[in-house]
Amino acid sequence: MDFAIQDSPEQTAFRVEVRAFLDKNVSPDIEHMADPCDMSFEQYQLRRDLGRALGAKGWLYPSMPKEYGGGDLSTEQIGILTDELTRIGLALPPYYDAGGRMGAPTILVWGTEEHKKRFLPPICRGEVRTWQLLTEPGAGSDLAGIKSTAIRDGDHYVVNGQKMYVGSSHGADYSWTILVTDPKGERHKNLSWLMIPMNLPGISVTPMDLLATGGEGGSGCGVKNAVFFDNVRVPAENLVGGENNGWKVATTHLEVEHGGMGRLADRRVVYDFIDLCKKREDGWAIADDPGAREELVNLYIESEITRLFAMRNHWLSHTNQPRSYEGSQYSLRRKLSGLDMGEKMVRIAGPLVLTKDKRWAPLRGSIEYFQRDSITSLHPGATTDIQRVIMARRLGIGGREREKAANLR
Ligand SMILES: Cc1cc2nc3c(=O)[nH]c(=O)nc-3n(C[C@H](O)[C@H](O)[C@H](O)COP(=O)(O)OP(=O)(O)OC[C@H]3O[C@@H](n4cnc5c(N)ncnc54)[C@H](O)[C@@H]3O)c2cc1C
Repeated sequence: MDFAIQDSPEQTAFRVEVRAFLDKNVSPDIEHMADPCDMSFEQYQLRRDLGRALGAKGWLYPSMPKEYGGGDLSTEQIGILTDELTRIGLALPPYYDAGGRMGAPTILVWGTEEHKKRFLPPICRGEVRTWQLLTEPGAGSDLAGIKSTAIRDGDHYVVNGQKMYVGSSHGADYSWTILVTDPKGERHKNLSWLMIPMNLPGISVTPMDLLATGGEGGSGCGVKNAVFFDNVRVPAENLVGGENNGWKVATTHLEVEHGGMGRLADRRVVYDFIDLCKKREDGWAIADDPGAREELVNLYIESEITRLFAMRNHWLSHTNQPRSYEGSQYSLRRKLSGLDMGEKMVRIAGPLVLTKDKRWAPLRGSIEYFQRDSITSLHPGATTDIQRVIMARRLGIGGREREKAANLR
């Protein structure tokens, strides 16, 4: 009996189309660095060019509706697109666009028709890049405790305050930002979201000196920033979801950020590592050792479990199935398994795996990056503690009524 999953004839045709598109549009000058934080501006621009080419076909945001610049693709087609990009070492979208990735689905739920027509097509076509601006010096896990304000003044909101740990290298065109619109209002009923053009007077961006990580799919994210707003006048029509209704809007944004829509890319570096351990050199392979074999199998299982959680969430959200704790379950698993897999790889291969030593040269130091990234990844998009808190609430553990998952449609 053959258990291998085969493409249907339609899926094969789509795979051929995707491969031909990528052959034509992925520049041969794109370099795959082990540490995406080393990416030059030129390399980043080559990825933006590919993003725009994908966007023109609706493939950069493949699950978004066509009328707003997406592709309306099925989960299977998105799987094929992601597979083909992973095969050539890229992710979808292949550059850091946190505000787009999480803001666009949120605008789809909470925006007016005018908001959708104005904000979504440029994001989906890869023409603009958008950061998400949530965290402040005194409010991370406790997002409702933010202090930065947006006060209505005629046709504008006047924004003052500071966001931190946000964005990436190479700037952004918009920031998808949560702010206090009613400073005297009740907690959770005093917040709103604004889409802020980053070229407005009064905005300054200061890179933070941190352990650099977070290059999503080779995006060269690297840097985190502090963003300061000093009497920035933002057109009132850029407020999405209604004034002081921002906590409800945040539930959708956070559901996406916490893994509710899953993802279809896998951790290719783990499979590359396993391949190298199988490689025979001077008559010997690491996988010949029974202890290493056992660890390699555990590593594979670890990676597959996370991948399956991610695929399940992708399918649940894209087919509009009931959801509960699944987003946080995947996110928690991804964070903890990242740490565990980094440790396993060093245990199997020894500390030389963290270097560009001869045997490990094909991995070019990517295990070192994987380990570093798995440490800082514990924190953003809700820490492991917060993911546990959310899971407990959704499961009804702790004497509470079961909390519902946020609306993604
Ligand atoms: C690499 C990276 C990228 C980031 N990107 C962005 C971005 O693009 N945009 C953005 O807005 N922010 C971003 N952040 C910020 C991130 O969202 C916050 O760091 C995160 O929400 C945690 O907030 P905090 O750092 O203030 O820690 P705190 O909230 O102060 O938490 C400190 C510790 O207390 C624990 N804790 C807090 N509350 C509870 C509780 N109720 N129960 C149990 N334990 C608790 C936490 O788990 C943590 O261990 C990024 C952070 C990092 C590290």
